[in-house]
Amino acid sequence: MGAESNAGRILIFTGCGKGKTTAALGAALRAAGHQMRVLIIQFIKERCTGEHEALERLHDLIEVRRRGTGFLPENDEEGMEKARAAARAALQEAAEELSAGQYGMVVLDESLYAIERGLLDAGAVREAICARAQGVHVVLTGRGHCEELAELADTITEMKCVKHAFQSGRAATKGIEF
Ligand code: ATP
Ligand code: MG
Repeated sequence: MGAESNAGRILIFTGCGKGKTTAALGAALRAAGHQMRVLIIQFIKERCTGEHEALERLHDLIEVRRRGTGFLPENDEEGMEKARAAARAALQEAAEELSAGQYGMVVLDESLYAIERGLLDAGAVREAICARAQGVHVVLTGRGHCEELAELADTITEMKCVKHAFQSGRAATKGIEF
């Protein structure tokens, strides 16, 4: 059991293998099938991908908010500061929605990667999750281990990369990677 009494579950999909975001989308779909409203807040990401188009059709049940600035830049402090500001604002937004309890499930996509890259403070994420309304399920994704959030989680799945098409030079493919 997680380290708190809120009946809402906390799930983590992490690791270096492919499948974290797709697993979270699957969880969202399952919840929506029970008429639960789902909010997906995406950290770092800004691009529209296949799931955004598809989820438009379920807009009454699943809402996606892309709150990132895109791929994190190398050697660009200004770009990183923009990414940090966007991540902090998105966390604030997530905290408000988590405590308001209008959504039965809140997915914080790439939040663990945002923590790993120093865009978000793990303690602030933990605080937002712990202050959520009763019964709200939370799904966190992203590569990078965060002990503070791992302690809190009920279920953690680590995707292990056995093979990835990128390694053999295959380009990102429509319907698979985006
Ligand atoms: P997906 O969105 O396909 O479920 P993910 O959420 O597990 O992947 P991210 O770390 O969010 O993976 O990766 C972002 C992008 O990089 C996605 O297009 C994903 O398919 C791709 N990717 C995932 N794992 C790997 C890997 N081991 N090597 C290269 N690219 C990867
Ligand atoms: Mg992902």
